[in-house]
Amino acid sequence: MRVEVPFGRRQLVGLVLEVVERSDVPDSRLRSATALLDTEPVLDPVTLGLVRFAADYYHHPIGEACSAALPSGLRLGRPLNAMEPRWRLSPQGLEAISGRTRFGHRQRALVERLSTRGELDLTDIEALGEGGRAALRGLIAKGWIEAYEVESAGQALSPGAIGERPEPTAAQAEAIETINAAFGHFSPFLLQGVTGSGKTEVYLRTIETVVAAGKQALVLVPEIALTPQAVARFRARFDTPIAILHSGLTDTDRLAMWRLARTGRAPIVIGTRSAVFVPLARLGILIIDEEHDPSYKQQEGFRYSARDLALLRAQREKVPIVLGSATPSLETLQHAQTGLYRLLTMPERAGAAGVPRTTVVDLRIHEERHGIATPTVMAIERHLASGGQALIYLNRRGYAPTLFCPGCSWSAPCESCDARMTVHMRRQLLICHHCGAQAAVPFACPRCSNELRPVGQGTERIEDGLDELFPGIPVVRIDRDTIQGRGEIEEALDRVHSGEARILVGTQMLTKGHDFPDVSLVVVLNADQGLFGTDFRASERLAQSIVQVSGRAGRGSRPGEVYIQSACPEHPLLQRLVTEGYVGFAQSALEERLAAGWPPYARLAVLRADSPERADAMTFLQAALRTAPVGGPIRLLGPVSSVMERRAGRYRAQLLLESSQRAPLHHFLSAWLPTVEALPEARRVRWSIDVDPLEVT
Ligand code: ADP
Ligand code: ZN
Ligand code: ZN
Repeated sequence: MRVEVPFGRRQLVGLVLEVVERSDVPDSRLRSATALLDTEPVLDPVTLGLVRFAADYYHHPIGEACSAALPSGLRLGRPLNAMEPRWRLSPQGLEAISGRTRFGHRQRALVERLSTRGELDLTDIEALGEGGRAALRGLIAKGWIEAYEVESAGQALSPGAIGERPEPTAAQAEAIETINAAFGHFSPFLLQGVTGSGKTEVYLRTIETVVAAGKQALVLVPEIALTPQAVARFRARFDTPIAILHSGLTDTDRLAMWRLARTGRAPIVIGTRSAVFVPLARLGILIIDEEHDPSYKQQEGFRYSARDLALLRAQREKVPIVLGSATPSLETLQHAQTGLYRLLTMPERAGAAGVPRTTVVDLRIHEERHGIATPTVMAIERHLASGGQALIYLNRRGYAPTLFCPGCSWSAPCESCDARMTVHMRRQLLICHHCGAQAAVPFACPRCSNELRPVGQGTERIEDGLDELFPGIPVVRIDRDTIQGRGEIEEALDRVHSGEARILVGTQMLTKGHDFPDVSLVVVLNADQGLFGTDFRASERLAQSIVQVSGRAGRGSRPGEVYIQSACPEHPLLQRLVTEGYVGFAQSALEERLAAGWPPYARLAVLRADSPERADAMTFLQAALRTAPVGGPIRLLGPVSSVMERRAGRYRAQLLLESSQRAPLHHFLSAWLPTVEALPEARRVRWSIDVDPLEVT
């Protein structure tokens, strides 16, 4: 429960997690809480247990973990349950009416309304006008009318009409049946279905069963604001309230949604990462859509993985959990292979759509114009001519990644990072994508006054190039520069769906769950960016984005094609991906991970540090390393500087911890971290521990 506590000269909201008989802190230093804000616990035992586990497992303070689990409205002291005032006649009031008491005419009118209506709410009171309200105050003062509170019904959500339900394919039917048979038990499933195989339909059908049984479904999705379509599909299938939880909500709306989930009034709850902590009155099933998506892992502060915690939650609440993806993470795949998760596969597309055909365009032999090779240009022309749309994917926003001086090789470095600034032509700015620093685009080289040249391609430049290559053809660009809010993505998607825009160009934003029925050609402009990444997960990420973006091709009735431009088309990863698809790629990637002793065949944690002075971060990590016991089951690797050492003016370094098993690593961290925290060197740096890190660069 929440309490109000004096903190310095302020009053803050605190959480009581435990009550103890005595304290180690002397009585003179203890202060009393000023108020108890709740009459019942804000977190039920399951969610509190999950938060406690997460704080412990990720070695993060329990207070901050609780804070992540509670909507900000509650942290600010708003009531747990939404209450609304009501007014009714008191027993004395009832007596007064029957006992011929004399009332003023306003009071009489009010009392008569109350005796016929039973109670009045705020709207009624508003309608009384000032005179009526004065009468009300008079009657309350006499004790004839009493005010009380009821739990509010919450914000009315417009449930949609139930739309069409397609007949499940054989693969869908089997998946639905298997999941339905697991209700009431902990049972983890990996639903591996190619893009367009109809995974969402499987979710919808299993949720129908859960809701019909009076239970709730919790659906986690990577990013709601960018995928309004996904939410719309749920709305179109259920006439029950759906609570939506994401970071774009106001504090008030978020609290209202959270209450709908907690009280069970919303049978369906769809949310991003932090929704894993939402209390649910009657959980029946958990679904993690696009389980491979990195957004499920919080990358700063409380570094938890919502996917991994969801599995624990499903286990504790004894419900089935479905991890869905066309491109499962290697961890999840390995769990499916060892039998920990049950594998449900849907290798074919539902409906009319076929599998797109893939062509790799060799950039060493084909001429490029504006970053687009001749065979690609011809393919775009062909698809446009037959009425299709083309989607061009490049994971780099801005105009060009480098502004270069051919005279002296100056290349617009960022002053605070070991990185170059990206040219943004539309805004006439150089922007550092790592620290956000901005500068005007110089007219000439600041060192030698030579003319400067943008080098390389970003989405802005591709958009310009497309205008030259295909004059008069409307292009829509979708990236973080053109899309800032929900309204903008909806507007851009409308232009695509209406057929007004014929070519789409964009970043990662385009790969996420969108359904573009008329896109028949997908072009991956520069596949090589990910082939030579420094992180152990770089190739996995590349394969996932290629497969996900390719999945946007030919989802409607038109057959789809995918063009992948590469300067090293014979790269084994690319080859295996093109010839055998994601499953083949994943197999060889897993073999590589096993040979190298990387996850999922090892457990990792990273101790990171950064500081304005180069030496401090390293000195701290070396001191931390010296305090670590030697010869145990944990290998400590480093410390080393980060690949991009300086960012936002701070030097960064890390110490990698590796173990073949989870438990020893956890025990090691529990014993070691308090020593690390106490190091005098720790005071000169900012440091953090990341358990199960997504990146170790
Ligand atoms: P995924 O989530 O696996 O990418 P979706 O659920 O978005 O796939 O389905 C892809 C398309 O196929 C959607 O347009 C959907 O309406 C359609 N679809 C799904 N299941 C069926 C089915 N059983 N029969 C016909 N069309 C279907
Ligand atoms: Zn120069
Ligand atoms: Zn920078």
